Amino acid sequence: MTRLSKKILLRGKIHLKTGLHIGAGKERVKIGGLDNPVVRALLRDGEPYIPGSSLKGKIRSLIEQAYGYDCMGQRNDPRHENGSCKVCQVFGGVLANQANHASRVIFRDAYMTAESKRRLEILDTPLPYTEVKAETAIDRITGRARSGTLRQTERVPAGTEFEFEVMVNVFKGEHEPSEPSEEELREMLCEGISLLNKDYLGASGSRGYGQVAVWFEECQAWTISSQNGKVDIKGDDETKSKWEKELQNKGLWGRPSELIADRESKEQGSKPQ
Ligand SMILES: [Zn+2]
Repeated sequence: MTRLSKKILLRGKIHLKTGLHIGAGKERVKIGGLDNPVVRALLRDGEPYIPGSSLKGKIRSLIEQAYGYDCMGQRNDPRHENGSCKVCQVFGGVLANQANHASRVIFRDAYMTAESKRRLEILDTPLPYTEVKAETAIDRITGRARSGTLRQTERVPAGTEFEFEVMVNVFKGEHEPSEPSEEELREMLCEGISLLNKDYLGASGSRGYGQVAVWFEECQAWTISSQNGKVDIKGDDETKSKWEKELQNKGLWGRPSELIADRESKEQGSKPQ
C-alpha cells in the first residue's frame, strides 16, 4: 500500500514563440465562419487557453517517443505486466499489479497572463485575443496552391504568455517497486519540458506552429504525514530548495535570457504573423 508523502507545486510560464492552435474540436459551433477555431474558456471572457490535458498529453507522448515506449499500443508488453513501465508510473496508466495507477503529475489548465490579455485586447483583432491565418495546401509537384483549399485557421499570436501549474504527488510505500521516487518524478517532468521546448504544442507543428519556451519560476512543497488518525500538512522548505536548485541546473528555472532581451527591445506588444 502506498501513501501520499509529499506535494510539490510548480508554477511557470509558457511563452509562444510562434502562433498556437489548439482546436476546439468539431463538435463546437463554428465561430465567425472559421474552419478551425481555437479552444476558449467560456467562463473567462472566452479567452483562449491551453487545456492541462493537451500539455500533459504532448509531454507524455514526447517521453514515450524518447524512451521507445508505446503505452496504449503495448499493453501486453512485459513492462506493463510487471509494472516497470516508467512512463505509466509517472503519468498514470494500466499497470497489471495496480488496476488503475493514477498520474503522479497533474497539469492544470493554463490561462493567459494579465499582461498578455491586456496587450491582445488593445490590438483589436477580428476575433478576441487571436489572429486568423489563411492557408492553402501547396501542390508538391507544381509548387502552386491547390484550388479550393483555402482554410481559415485561428491561432493565438506569437509573444502571448500563459501561466501554468503542475502538481507533483510523491507517494511512499514499502514493497512497491512500481512507485516512482521523488527524483524519478522530477527527472521525467524535466525531460518532458525540455523535449517540449524543442518540439511544438498544439496542431500544425510541421508548418511552424506552436513553438514554445516553457520555464518554472515558483515552487512550493509540503510534507504529508498521518499520525493518531490525523493528517498533518507541513511546509517543506528543504524540498522546495532542492527542486529549485535542480530546475536551475537543468536550465528550466526563470525566463530564458533571450526572451528578456526580446522583451526589452520590443515593448509594442505581440507580433502577429
Ligand atoms: Zn506504459
